[in-house]
Amino acid sequence: MRDGADIPTYEAIVVGGGISGMYLTHRLRELGVHFHVFEAGSDVGGTWYWCRYPGARFDSESWTYGFFFDEELLQEWDWKEHFSPQPDTLEYLNHVADRFDFRRDMTFDASVAAATFDDAANLWTVTLEDGRQARASLLITGLGVLSAPTLPNIPGRDDFAGPKFHTARWPHEPVDFTSKRVGIIGTGATAIQAIPEIAKTAGHLTVFQRAPNWAAPLHNAAITPEEQKDIKARYKEIYARCWETVACFIHHPDPRSALEVSPEDREAFWEKLYSEPGFGIWLGNFRDVLTDERANALATAFMARKIRERVDDPVLADKLTPKNHGFGTRRLPLESGYFEAYNRPNVRLVDIAEAPIERITPDGVVTTAQAHRFDILIYATGFDGVTGPYDRIDIRGPGGRRLRDEWKELPRTFLGVINDGFPNMLMVLGPHTARGNIPRNIEMIVDFNIGLIRHMRAHGHKRVAARSEEAEKWLEQVKAVDAGLLSSKIASWQTGVNRNVEGRQTPRVLGYNGGAVRYRKLIEKIAAGGYKEFEFG
Ligand code: NAP
Repeated sequence: MRDGADIPTYEAIVVGGGISGMYLTHRLRELGVHFHVFEAGSDVGGTWYWCRYPGARFDSESWTYGFFFDEELLQEWDWKEHFSPQPDTLEYLNHVADRFDFRRDMTFDASVAAATFDDAANLWTVTLEDGRQARASLLITGLGVLSAPTLPNIPGRDDFAGPKFHTARWPHEPVDFTSKRVGIIGTGATAIQAIPEIAKTAGHLTVFQRAPNWAAPLHNAAITPEEQKDIKARYKEIYARCWETVACFIHHPDPRSALEVSPEDREAFWEKLYSEPGFGIWLGNFRDVLTDERANALATAFMARKIRERVDDPVLADKLTPKNHGFGTRRLPLESGYFEAYNRPNVRLVDIAEAPIERITPDGVVTTAQAHRFDILIYATGFDGVTGPYDRIDIRGPGGRRLRDEWKELPRTFLGVINDGFPNMLMVLGPHTARGNIPRNIEMIVDFNIGLIRHMRAHGHKRVAARSEEAEKWLEQVKAVDAGLLSSKIASWQTGVNRNVEGRQTPRVLGYNGGAVRYRKLIEKIAAGGYKEFEFG
């Protein structure tokens, strides 16, 4: 990449060097495409490069998460734990990048600020924040869904004088909490992982909670040598299982209704799920827990009882029990000693629904009730989900149409792969695609995009676009499968709500919630039919 008139031109530019960008690198090379990857971070890894906060780890079984495209890679890599901690995951991603020499096609510290399409030439021009430019016929976005962190819109947010970190912009050196007064704002999946870990060493930890979230035990464990052997022998079977399930994890809903079994059987099933590792209690629950109010209310009552059993102080247990959403209607955080952390003498919960934060000062946090002084302040305040990473880039299609403006209400994509009116821009994990076990979703979508590019090359096409009528139909399908879910009206990053971001206050459908099996069948059918639903030129 150079400055000025001599702008390098590729067949494809990939934005993002996380798991999407890495897998795209592998597949684009196979196809012989002349491409380049621009990554904002200083190395590969995406989420696992940025989110280095204490306690960060998989909620997916490690052995379902990695890349499956190379048998030797599968056999040579030993996952150490069933749910890999962030440092091990980043080590794995570096191992893959080294092994396949991915960095050769990547530029790091290269944050993309803008992408503009020349309609006559079918060419995207990408501009980095430092002004450098590159061009390509195809723009492929591997931006992730949770890569636009948001800070709280609290007065004085930047005034705190001590070390302050957003969990997704964590320093590369370990942060020492010993004897320190630490404050943390937020109680989402990130905070639920970080709080028990920080509480182990902090002098005192104060948690500012606006609203609690449901959480279930992760039950992580080290992988024994016998298990390691077994996993490696069963990779084919594990992989096949991921493609049979609703969200590409090993878990799949139980075919029974929560309402048709006896209270004893229901209880026994939930106790079993609660004692097992991973997302079983969320994704392997009775088939109607996430769709039927009555079934959901029963599961919610079970989970509330678990909080009461685990938190010593009943008043605190009540504060930690969500009232504004039923169990599983937001992406379920998995935890390792989260509720027990509140039994420690060095941890205090501050309910900011009761006494809101007024401002942040150089010393700490002032609520309507009290001033709290801290040495370290942590923002575990989440992300502008799904569309946020796109909104932060000035993406302009034909006639200067801005993607950010087009997506103000709702994206209009076909399959979540291409947006109506934005030719030659292919998305990985764009809005309205199936999501779950992210690397499997990425694989499915990248493979589809690669097939599409292969088709274009075979037919000499220079341009691919969504047909408006197909985008319209897709949106209707997306809305139809979402309508039956209890989660569709609940505010969360998955429904695009972020109270710190203007215009993002109300839920909207941002994912394809018909399940990965159905989505995969659909895209395979489109590929087999010669991509007739797309418009080529
Ligand atoms: P999140 O779930 O959106 O939680 C953000 C938290 O910050 C919420 O408790 C929110 O409160 C609070 N908050 C935001 N702005 C605030 C303000 N101005 N004042 C006070 N509180 C404020 O974000 P997250 O915890 O980072 O998790 C996001 C997603 O990342 C997860 O759902 C998950 O998909 C993913 N994740 C995955 C893993 C994993 O795989 N292991 C781990 C961590 C996260 P309100 O609820 O009141 O808005």
